[in-house]
Amino acid sequence: MSRNEPHSVLITPLGGLGEIGKNLTVIEWENNAVIIDAGFKFPDADLPGIDKVIPDLSYLDTISKKIRAVLLTHGHADHIGGLRYVLEKVKVPVYGTELTIGLADEVLPGSVRPVDFRTVQFGKHYFIAGVRTEFIRVNHSIPDGAAIALHFPAGIVLHTGDFKIDLNPIDGNPMDLQRFGDLGLKGILCLMADSTNADEPGYTASESTVGRTFEQLYKFAPGRIVVATFATNIHRLQQIVDTTAKFGRKLIIDGKSIVDTIKVAQRLGYFNMQDSMVITPEQANKMPPDKVAIVTTGTQGEPMSGMTKIANATHPKIHIQKTDTVLISADPIPGNESLVSRTVSGLLKLGANVYYRNVDGVHVSGHASQEEMKIVLALARPKYFIPLHGEYKQLWFHAKIAENIGINKENIFICDNGDQIQLSEKVGKIVKKVPAGAVYIDGSSVGDIGTVVLKERSKLARDGFMTISVAVSKDTREILAGPDITSQGFIYMKESAETIEVVKQAVINIVKNWKSESSSTSELKRQIREKLSDVLLETTRRRPMILPTVLQI
Ligand SMILES: [Zn+2]
Ligand SMILES: [Zn+2]
Repeated sequence: MSRNEPHSVLITPLGGLGEIGKNLTVIEWENNAVIIDAGFKFPDADLPGIDKVIPDLSYLDTISKKIRAVLLTHGHADHIGGLRYVLEKVKVPVYGTELTIGLADEVLPGSVRPVDFRTVQFGKHYFIAGVRTEFIRVNHSIPDGAAIALHFPAGIVLHTGDFKIDLNPIDGNPMDLQRFGDLGLKGILCLMADSTNADEPGYTASESTVGRTFEQLYKFAPGRIVVATFATNIHRLQQIVDTTAKFGRKLIIDGKSIVDTIKVAQRLGYFNMQDSMVITPEQANKMPPDKVAIVTTGTQGEPMSGMTKIANATHPKIHIQKTDTVLISADPIPGNESLVSRTVSGLLKLGANVYYRNVDGVHVSGHASQEEMKIVLALARPKYFIPLHGEYKQLWFHAKIAENIGINKENIFICDNGDQIQLSEKVGKIVKKVPAGAVYIDGSSVGDIGTVVLKERSKLARDGFMTISVAVSKDTREILAGPDITSQGFIYMKESAETIEVVKQAVINIVKNWKSESSSTSELKRQIREKLSDVLLETTRRRPMILPTVLQI
């Protein structure tokens, strides 16, 4: 079968497989392509100095003429945070529901504007290069989340986005299961679905259960309530605001990201709050503690976030009081557990009463558990199934669930980022692999940070560095000044006179040898680096980065 056979589609996930984050999937048909989601991921701790990670987008360059649109499922950063980098490559319309577009608009820099945003409504149909496209309501930890169905000549492709089935949603809008069933009856060629909680049995509890927990905690809290949540978890923020108002408290909103999200959501009618209930920390100081609540960021122990500063007693305005009740209203993302536990310990040490993890009911997931996945698979009954949005373990569990519910094992694809799957009524197979690594964003520079730089940063953070400067005569090649030694993050200079002396003597000996060799100064620098590294390892058991400067006079 040729790649240009009209009745087939090519699906290429460039991110979001084998990981949680940087979701991006390309779907191609005939001479067209769309991109579903364009997210980023926060870096792991082993990437010092990296702000965020996006998918390798070089594949888009090879098909840029075919790309017709970007379709967004919802407004979380792992789905919209990489949009600017896609729009830098292709200027195409961006489709999404109202809140999703509002949040995407908020994070785009001026350099990619103007952007052709197309706000969509549930229940309506849109045509992209002739292909009927619809957005179907799902529940998630942000309002306005959508699944996307594309009616290709080869069949319907349905992408769930991030979803859960919440039958008691706080905005009164349950997932449109009926439409999933409708499409299932018509015949779905391929379902791609959120696998985040594929290893969780049962059903994910409704968001509204968190509100009930909040009420209990507010009722008995002797002093202030301090809640940390994700800035984009608008339902959770709404429940914090509602409970705060219900118990006659006023609210401090700490953190620009929360203020910004609320502003967008309020403007678009997705958030209800009386502005009069918001107070400043200064105003709060004059009020009884049991009339005050605080909402802040930092559920993941992020170093610069509000809750982390509060726990470290370094927050400029908010200081823990012994009667405070602190709620960490989120689960740690895998990898962040130790940061979160440090925050909890810090808060306990300061005397606060702390509630965290969903054992205390202060959090429920925004993602479907196994029983909900079965419901969606049973309604959709796809011919092919591709689990998305999960580490390998979760993709594997989701694949098993699909198999148990009757999907042909050969038609289930557990993929890696970059795998290209060709699907038609007759054949489904992985046809090739395209580049799909990670690209590191460091401040404003994109992708030019190689592993060498990363290794250097790790080394600096671990072992510090030492600079050695020495001036030598052009004629006699003898030392005229120095060697001068400085160091940072390696040894405390004042208490390491002995080590410094050893280093100086070593440099003098190296220069002496070099003098008789007639080699260049760069060779001298190389020798200083290598030999000192050994000397320092022997005397201090560490290998700092060594930066020699040789001046020829
Ligand atoms: Zn999400
Ligand atoms: Zn997500």
